[in-house]
Amino acid sequence: MESLNPFEIAQAQLDEAAAVLDLDPATHQLLRVPMRELHVSIPVRMDDGTTKIFTGFRVQYNDACGPTKGGIRFHPEETIDTVRALAAWMTWKTAVVGLPYGGGKGGIICNPKQMSEGELERLARGYIRSLGNFIGEERDIPAPDVYTTPRIMAWMMDEYSKMTGHNVPGLITGKPLILGGSQGRGDATARGAIYCIREAAKLLGLELKDGTLAIQGYGNAGVYLAQLAVELLGMRVVAISDSCGGIYRADGIDWQMALEHKKATGSVAGLPGTTPITNEELLLLDVTVLCPAALENVITSRNAGEVKAKVIAEAANGPTTPAADRILHEKGIFVIPDFLCNAGGVTVSYFEWVQNVTGYYWDLPTVHGRLDNLMTEAFWRVARVRESRNVHTRLAAYVVAVDRVAQAVRLRGWV
Ligand code: NAD
Repeated sequence: MESLNPFEIAQAQLDEAAAVLDLDPATHQLLRVPMRELHVSIPVRMDDGTTKIFTGFRVQYNDACGPTKGGIRFHPEETIDTVRALAAWMTWKTAVVGLPYGGGKGGIICNPKQMSEGELERLARGYIRSLGNFIGEERDIPAPDVYTTPRIMAWMMDEYSKMTGHNVPGLITGKPLILGGSQGRGDATARGAIYCIREAAKLLGLELKDGTLAIQGYGNAGVYLAQLAVELLGMRVVAISDSCGGIYRADGIDWQMALEHKKATGSVAGLPGTTPITNEELLLLDVTVLCPAALENVITSRNAGEVKAKVIAEAANGPTTPAADRILHEKGIFVIPDFLCNAGGVTVSYFEWVQNVTGYYWDLPTVHGRLDNLMTEAFWRVARVRESRNVHTRLAAYVVAVDRVAQAVRLRGWV
């Protein structure tokens, strides 16, 4: 039976890379598990006067290459193993791009859709107080992720600054611009994915102009993906979806109308002029590029055989299981693996942190140019290993990343 436990998946993926690299057993063992993790209980005064206790996590997976970096998720089904897996993937993500960071991740089990703004603020501040000095701008730098926003980052940065007695904008990234956010952070994840899709098309000799795109998940990443695919690559977005359902239109969906419809009704489903489609059907469409941009484990051994896209650009973390990966590889589908494809977000987060600690802020063309350089270099670094080692793209990305972290571990004298 195929494991859908994300941490077991992350470990299995590492094991495969360790075998290719012939990694020594001690380094391999160290890289299989988080170096540190904190579990916290956060009491929050709710609007009705009761006090609710929320469970939160922060995992610092490996900091051999620098302070750990990774988002905070607010999700009702959050588990420690999801956070561990995401922290591991952050380690490989920062390493594949060559950022001076390790990987971390945080999460709180909560349903933000059922909480007021005041309750969310008290939860965000309570989480930061619970973490205390476990985090810090030279230690562990959080960021937004699923269902967390720049507003929430602002509360968290403010709470930490109050605790330390001075302003610490470099504690957290994804902040509003006025509080030290970076130009270009909003669309950075999607933009990085678009640069990868552009380079993959060069590698594969694929025409993207008027090519078709299906996007699962119409949130932070998904909306910008739709916009930039149209504006930068000239693609046609034929299908999009969210947790309430999906829509299809062969001639292309207007990304802005879909966004306005989602703002007005809570979902893209039901946009006039489109046909309803399920999330499962969307994954199996015959499109040029498929972008999973929602949750983990959506492409498994159950449906991978029926996927028809030429390229899968994984904006989401962990959308494909290892068994599905093998099937996709056999079918000749080119997968841009999550920790390469969605690394644009952490790359501009890195730019934000550099600007915070130096106090000198960059303009938008500088951010875009530097992001393009780093993403393009990372893509071809992986493409070269794929070619030279004759392995599939995810394994090639792992080989690049794990080799880098293993070198840092050895040079520090940890093993
Ligand atoms: P988000 O909360 O803004 O959006 C998530 C979207 O997924 C929403 O439209 C939601 O309706 C949809 N969704 C939720 N459950 C679904 C389901 N069962 N089926 C279909 N759609 C569903 O989150 P985001 O920031 O866009 O993140 C999406 C993915 O991208 C996550 O895996 C996240 O880890 C990854 N990611 C995001 C960033 C970033 O900077 N935003 C960076 C790296 C990776």
